[in-house]
Amino acid sequence: SPSKMSSRSPPAELLQEMVVPPRQLFGPGPSNMADAIAETQSKNLLGHLHPEFVKIMSDTRLGIQYVFKTQNAYTFAVSGTGHAGMECALVNLLERGDRFLSVEIGLWGARAADLASRMGCEVRKVTAPHGKAVTVEELEKAITEFKPHVVFVCQGESSTGVAQPLEKIGDICHQNGALFLVDTVASLGGTPFDSDALGVDCVYSATQKVLNAPPGLAPISFSDRAIQKIRSRSQRVASFYFDALELGNYWGCDQELKRYHHTAPISTVYALRAALQAIAKEGIDETIERHHKNIQYLYELLKNNNLEPFVEDEKLRLPCLTTIKVPEGVDWKDVASDLMGQGVEIAGGLGATVGKIWRVGTFGINSDRAKIEKVIGLLAAAVNKRRKKQV
Ligand code: PMP
Repeated sequence: SPSKMSSRSPPAELLQEMVVPPRQLFGPGPSNMADAIAETQSKNLLGHLHPEFVKIMSDTRLGIQYVFKTQNAYTFAVSGTGHAGMECALVNLLERGDRFLSVEIGLWGARAADLASRMGCEVRKVTAPHGKAVTVEELEKAITEFKPHVVFVCQGESSTGVAQPLEKIGDICHQNGALFLVDTVASLGGTPFDSDALGVDCVYSATQKVLNAPPGLAPISFSDRAIQKIRSRSQRVASFYFDALELGNYWGCDQELKRYHHTAPISTVYALRAALQAIAKEGIDETIERHHKNIQYLYELLKNNNLEPFVEDEKLRLPCLTTIKVPEGVDWKDVASDLMGQGVEIAGGLGATVGKIWRVGTFGINSDRAKIEKVIGLLAAAVNKRRKKQV
């Protein structure tokens, strides 16, 4: 009987109010939501095929083309976080047995290589020590020797704080029959990126970094060259959810009648539209310029406080995510906990950089002089307290 079925009592924890303390997010993401974006999260839902929502999707597509700097028709957002963008890119661009070359200068190049090997591809890597980037010469040598089908580069390597230069790679890929794939999850809006000028065949990003929106969508774009390769695959794409041609139809990228593919995360699409609108109002180049200008101030504060950036070559530093060396004898975790106790998040290293560095993200609205002064001030105070203890 129904009374027997409901004999278990509901979890007491769930009946209490959810606790969400205020927090300033200066880690590697998520960043804080801008007010205009947060406001969209309580707007009423629309049906995902209602004309008003279709218009919101279409505006969002234009915004994604604007921030990626691309005319690519197949430009949309995958439902899911940055990893969904990565999976969508790889599962469409690669077939079992293809050759995949990954630039591995930190965790993300390793992650992409792992996905490609799960997909049955032959994988090779070009590496550089942590805190450094690979050179075009090294990459060109690997591409001409290995003749990969796809070359993966993470522009903003968030595990080390390096901005991998992208110039010339597109041409080298195309001269050797490879597609050029770029991860801009941690870099888009923080450092220059021009998809069409760089000859990028597929780029993806995420909502929760410079865009200051909640995690849950991965903006992505495929060049005509990439779409041609997808159309001429000999095996069908193994994933329905991530099928680029199906997703492209759903987002209005082709001339066909729009088909139901899945239910878009309506509220998250509202947030992404608001995030793109904020960038459009400031201007994408102006947004990038602001990150570049404010990060100089952060470097100045580090210097004044006797703290050292992990990435030695200033040209290779990501202007929205700074890695800082943990001084000898100081416990990184104690320092991070100290800041967390004051409602401010910074992070430690990731993968091979654990214990060696802190990571301080200044994404979007958090790229602001007053906020930078606060977070570096707190960091320096927490470090100095412990430095004094040593002597
Ligand atoms: N690529 C990079 C460069 C990232 O920094 C991240 C997340 N920090 C990802 C991919 C994966 O994104 P997500 O956590 O949103 O799945």
